[in-house]
Amino acid sequence: MNLRPEEISSIIRQQIEKYKAEVEVSDVGTVIQVGDGIARVYGLEKCMASELLEFPGGTMGMALNLEEDNIGCVLLGPYTHIKEGDTVKRTGRIISVPVGDALIGRVVNPLGQPIDGLGPINSDKFRPVERIAPGVIERKSVHQPLQTGLKAIDSMIPIGRGQRELILGDRQTGKTAIAVDAIINQKGKDVICIYVAVGQKNSTVANVVQKLKDTGAMEYSIVVSATASDPAPLLFIAPFAGASMGEEFMEQGKHVLIVYDDLSKQASAYRELSLLLRRPPGREAYPGDVFNLHSRLLERACKLSDALGAGSMTALPIIETQAGDVSAYIPTNVISITDGQIYLEPDLFYAGVRPAVNVGISVSRVGGAAQIKAMKQVGGTLRLDLAQYRELAAFAQFGSDLDKATQARLTRGERMVELLKQGQYVPMDVEDQVISIFAGTRGFLDDLPVEQVLPFEDGLIKFIKNNKADVRKELSEKQEITKDLEEKLRAAIKEYKESFVK
Ligand code: ATP
Ligand code: MG
Repeated sequence: MNLRPEEISSIIRQQIEKYKAEVEVSDVGTVIQVGDGIARVYGLEKCMASELLEFPGGTMGMALNLEEDNIGCVLLGPYTHIKEGDTVKRTGRIISVPVGDALIGRVVNPLGQPIDGLGPINSDKFRPVERIAPGVIERKSVHQPLQTGLKAIDSMIPIGRGQRELILGDRQTGKTAIAVDAIINQKGKDVICIYVAVGQKNSTVANVVQKLKDTGAMEYSIVVSATASDPAPLLFIAPFAGASMGEEFMEQGKHVLIVYDDLSKQASAYRELSLLLRRPPGREAYPGDVFNLHSRLLERACKLSDALGAGSMTALPIIETQAGDVSAYIPTNVISITDGQIYLEPDLFYAGVRPAVNVGISVSRVGGAAQIKAMKQVGGTLRLDLAQYRELAAFAQFGSDLDKATQARLTRGERMVELLKQGQYVPMDVEDQVISIFAGTRGFLDDLPVEQVLPFEDGLIKFIKNNKADVRKELSEKQEITKDLEEKLRAAIKEYKESFVK
């Protein structure tokens, strides 16, 4: 064999030059594989997790898998023009969104870009979409009410500022309706609302936005929308983007209500990404960290301590169940993360009990501390009344003779169920709710026919507003029902009832 030293040394020289070059350009990589919204990039050794990467044509990507010799990233825009061998640049920025007052009243995508045609968003402040949630020292227990304006919820499943309350139910059971009513009810209460739409139809989101505009709620709301036609990575980051926008206000000492509608779709989007990135599938093919996905999101909603300004972020995540199966993977995960759940039942919904809250399995684990005293006084027995009613109603179907006490419980229960029905977009003030439930639990409705309950309630509230303004005022000032007030309320209801029955 004929060895030529010049050739060998030139090869070695070349290798050394190339080696140096590689180290120098660690901020630029090469696409080695692309497809299905995923790209694998070689040569970005210093890339950070969740860092934004720039592809040719201005398409952005987010690095999710940092592997030994390549990076798996998801593409946040059109990707059909990207091909193998293209260069990819690091931006050095973790994916972030604009925050602040400029966003209020706007509809944006999960990157904070406006999609409502109202011009650019003038905010110079940005926040990364992911952040570690406040720790124990930075928090305070939940103690102020966040009124949803819905009788069935404020009386039995009260929500406090800084709480996380899950709304779950099958499709078309009024989940969105509850969240939207809660947003509408925040008018004049100094709460900034954020509605995050994940994986819904464009038309559904447009309807919600229109409703918020019509009711004046858009003046204090932000809508973050990633619809079903958006790429999965946008669906995945939408809730995080909304949380970042909320945190900005929370840290200014303000109160925020954030709705994630819904997290089942976020979980599906995350599953899609994970499978394409070849992460190992676990139960129901979700990746192993889908629990962490939801818990690190929901932990960011909290009540801050006084030292930090006492702001709060209340979260209403929504989960869609399949055929009422609350023990499926994602529903049980989110149930265990949140501070309670409101379960909506299709059977009730179709029977006309709307909102279709199943009181038996709905709870609020911290809300009791956040209810006004008057509501606790009138609503205290409500849960029990309804529970007894349900039990007896099942028996009474057999049609045997019923004793007086049983009969009375059935009568009461039937009327309370009727009284808790409430239409959409008509949230009630807490004073009116107290008066209405007072009339029910103190037995003023027992001798009315069931179909007269709601007209009676409606008239009673108007009557007290117009003719007994002093009683209502006393109630809203004291926030509790004193002996004296109890008498006044009874007298007022009696007076109204005489005119109603006639
Ligand atoms: P999806 O699974 O499609 O997201 P959803 O559970 O969010 O559905 P909604 O869209 O809120 O349900 O409500 C379903 C339908 O029920 C809507 O047409 C809505 O107008 C109606 N609805 C909801 N709540 C009430 C109510 N309290 N009174 C009367 N109608 C209601
Ligand atoms: Mg919905």
